[in-house]
Amino acid sequence: MASQTGAIVQQSLHALMGDPAFLPQLRGELREQSFQSLAAILSTPNKVHKAFLRIALGGGNVVRIPAFRIQHNDALGPYKGGIRFHETVNEDEVTNLAALMTLKNALHEVPFGGGKGGVVINPRSYSEKELYLICKKYVQYFSDVLGPDKDIPAPDMGTGEREMDWMMAEYKNINPGSPYLGSFTGKSIVSGGSLGRREATGKGVYFTFRYMLHDFLKEHSGSLSGSDNPFAKTALSYAGKPMSVAVQGFGNVGSVAALEAYKCSALRNRVVAVSDRNVTLYNEEGLDIPALLAFAAANKGDLPTSPETLEEIGLKARVLGREDVLYLGVDVLFLAALEDQIRADNVAEVKARIIVEGANAPITGEADAALAESGTIIIPDILANAGGVIVSYFEWLQGRETQFYTEEEIYKLLFAKMQKTMNGILPAYFGDPLPLRQNCYVHAVMKLSSVLYRQGKLY
Ligand code: GLU
Repeated sequence: MASQTGAIVQQSLHALMGDPAFLPQLRGELREQSFQSLAAILSTPNKVHKAFLRIALGGGNVVRIPAFRIQHNDALGPYKGGIRFHETVNEDEVTNLAALMTLKNALHEVPFGGGKGGVVINPRSYSEKELYLICKKYVQYFSDVLGPDKDIPAPDMGTGEREMDWMMAEYKNINPGSPYLGSFTGKSIVSGGSLGRREATGKGVYFTFRYMLHDFLKEHSGSLSGSDNPFAKTALSYAGKPMSVAVQGFGNVGSVAALEAYKCSALRNRVVAVSDRNVTLYNEEGLDIPALLAFAAANKGDLPTSPETLEEIGLKARVLGREDVLYLGVDVLFLAALEDQIRADNVAEVKARIIVEGANAPITGEADAALAESGTIIIPDILANAGGVIVSYFEWLQGRETQFYTEEEIYKLLFAKMQKTMNGILPAYFGDPLPLRQNCYVHAVMKLSSVLYRQGKLY
């Protein structure tokens, strides 16, 4: 397992081993051996599936495209996690992300294990027909290991409803007569997807931020006012004051989080910057997010890139470089683009006091430590961006029952689930010196360890 995830899992196991109240049945040498087996189980995937998809391109060339499906752990249920299409996808990255899914599902009590897939392509360089063939081939090559009770993929970077619909259709071709609605989640509504799935990650990201900064704080402000916890101190210093917000990424997660921040009356945010793969747009007074959403919808998802275009559509903003969003003097920065955005080499330039991880792993381990040192608050991916997989779980349930919920019901269930997770960890977190990410990991590892122990998997 690469980097951050692996290191924090090891630290969590170490802390739990030293806590005699955790699995007290395990003592002495047996305790040592059991924790060693836990470390081995959590640091390696159960299965790594790799293939080279043979695709005849539109021009007649035949290429072989590397593709992965990595099944990290299924102690809590079938493997679950997205498939990303990106030119830098590699085995280490997918393994790391699969492990993060195992932990994310454990933390939020979603009854799934963790998996992840990847295809090494830049989807923008392929025609629709070619992408269709790539999706079909992916399912053909991995059909033995996929299925509603085995491993359930979903969208991730570079994939969406269209790809999930194609993949589910191929799964259905290969497995005639078997239930197929639960084979993929993140499908379009007409293909059996769930209302609210598309917005779920972005909404969940913003909900987590608002709950921590406002709702929970408000309810507990008495007991937290003397707390030494840096989060409590920072959050209380904002009580009732408007916050300036920057959002990196204007895709499925960032654009929804930006709109939620724009609309939120509880925190009276000003969304002063948004960015995408081309530009950062900045306006100190606040950006008109609905107008930017309308522009992006009409322009293949891209933000306007020139002062002339901004003028034409009547939008007031300065055009900055795409990376500039990271270094603005804002209160809150949402990272909803790619991984490894804040690293040892640029962390010193980051000025935001609160960072929310909408993407998976946007901060490297070294940068994470440096930010903790400087008192920056981080709401980690494992906690904040689970909305996608939580609504994927509701989609899977709805597919089983062929009974569908309204959009309102979905959001209610989503927020209740995320709130339950936060209520389970926040009281301890506010009284504990461990950073929030570490706290979440300890919870997830505790859950997995107990299940693995009870199921006799540690011998
Ligand atoms: N790709 C998303 C994630 O990283 C969603 C996974 C899912 O819905 O299974 O959490």
